[in-house]
Amino acid sequence: MAHWLFTEEHELVRKTVRNWVEKEIKPYVEEWENAGEFPRELFARAGELGFLGLTYPEEYGGSGEDYLAGAVFFEEMARCGSAGVAAGLGASMAIAGPQIYKFGSEELKNRFLPPTISGKKIGALAITEPNAGSDVASIQTTARNMGDHYLVNGSKIFITNGVRADYVVTAVKTDPAAGHKGISLLVIEKGTPGFTVAKKLDKLGWNTSDTGELVFEDCRVPGENLVGRENMGFYYIMQNFAWERLVMALEAVASAQLAIDVAAEYARQRVQFGRPLSKFQVTRHKLADMASLVETARCLTYHALSLYVSGRDAVTEVAMAKLYACEIANRVTDEAVQIHGGYGYMMEYPVQRFWRDARIGTIGGGTSDIMKQVIAGRLIK
Ligand SMILES: Cc1cc2nc3c(=O)[nH]c(=O)nc-3n(C[C@H](O)[C@H](O)[C@H](O)COP(=O)(O)OP(=O)(O)OC[C@H]3O[C@@H](n4cnc5c(N)ncnc54)[C@H](O)[C@@H]3O)c2cc1C
Repeated sequence: MAHWLFTEEHELVRKTVRNWVEKEIKPYVEEWENAGEFPRELFARAGELGFLGLTYPEEYGGSGEDYLAGAVFFEEMARCGSAGVAAGLGASMAIAGPQIYKFGSEELKNRFLPPTISGKKIGALAITEPNAGSDVASIQTTARNMGDHYLVNGSKIFITNGVRADYVVTAVKTDPAAGHKGISLLVIEKGTPGFTVAKKLDKLGWNTSDTGELVFEDCRVPGENLVGRENMGFYYIMQNFAWERLVMALEAVASAQLAIDVAAEYARQRVQFGRPLSKFQVTRHKLADMASLVETARCLTYHALSLYVSGRDAVTEVAMAKLYACEIANRVTDEAVQIHGGYGYMMEYPVQRFWRDARIGTIGGGTSDIMKQVIAGRLIK
């Protein structure tokens, strides 16, 4: 039964995305996992079907600012069983694009949003550096204001879509002495002299998404590519973290649910000691525990989502949802591997991928420790 948060229209979106995932994604997941990325054309296909524009207004090619429809999209994407696909599409649509949409000039919006929404251009958001991860304020990439342009020097690491992005919304220090108050966001386009992709990184999971290391050496970026105001970048990054973290929580819940479904089916089929595993009380209780964890995570995530879409302060609840959902996704996918026994350890069974893919949840978008810092900070304040 549909949750009360979602209307009939949202359920229609769900049905459409589910069909697309079944027909055009699931059958190719193994091939894309082996290739180390999904085809670039998938962005254009998702754009053509209107999925990349769900959370953007019509004037830029979107279908309305509907974050619940966006939530449905990410829940259904997770059901394809390869979390890197949603990570790649999401980095462009839900992480890079919103910075331009929420804070960019009209000129930047007109240049970058329509091609992002149609999937013709791929975006990335680059904050993390080799020496600055959780501590965003300590980034060292600098951008010197030269009047009509900025001169950017530094490097970024672990950037989703970093290798094939057409533009990278890049966090830079415009006032290096000012800590978090000296950060700005610049849109740096592929092909800008001085901007190179140093490496495509090999990962444990999320293998269908590309993850890159980027280098900027005396890279000249036009002044009009500044997002919003100079030295406001830290606040812009923090503001969109709520949506990014909600997306991660929604995907964690949906992926954990998929692991339960697959494990339950396996338990029905696998016979040991003359009976299917599903007849053993140990297996049944394991599945019951897994389902209870996922249902709790879903309730918390939907609660945070309802606060977010109603415009209320959702910082604490979003951090709780991201923390809890991503932590339990690790536990649940681990148990799903366990139910599969030795087969769960074999690459030909997708359950090993659910477990590998889940591992990023407690690291990316702010680690579990950082979520606890956010929650405790709010409590103590
Ligand atoms: C596959 C993948 C995709 C990614 N995509 C992107 C992207 O598109 N764009 C981008 O900018 N970044 C991206 N990241 C980077 C990600 O956001 C960082 O890895 C994350 O923020 C953690 O930073 P770090 O890796 O430097 O770890 P660190 O910050 O060095 O943390 C290491 C450990 O120390 C703990 N720790 C750190 N500080 C504290 C503290 N104050 N209190 C308690 N514990 C603490 C952390 O919880 C963690 O366990 C991606 C990472 C991965 C792996």
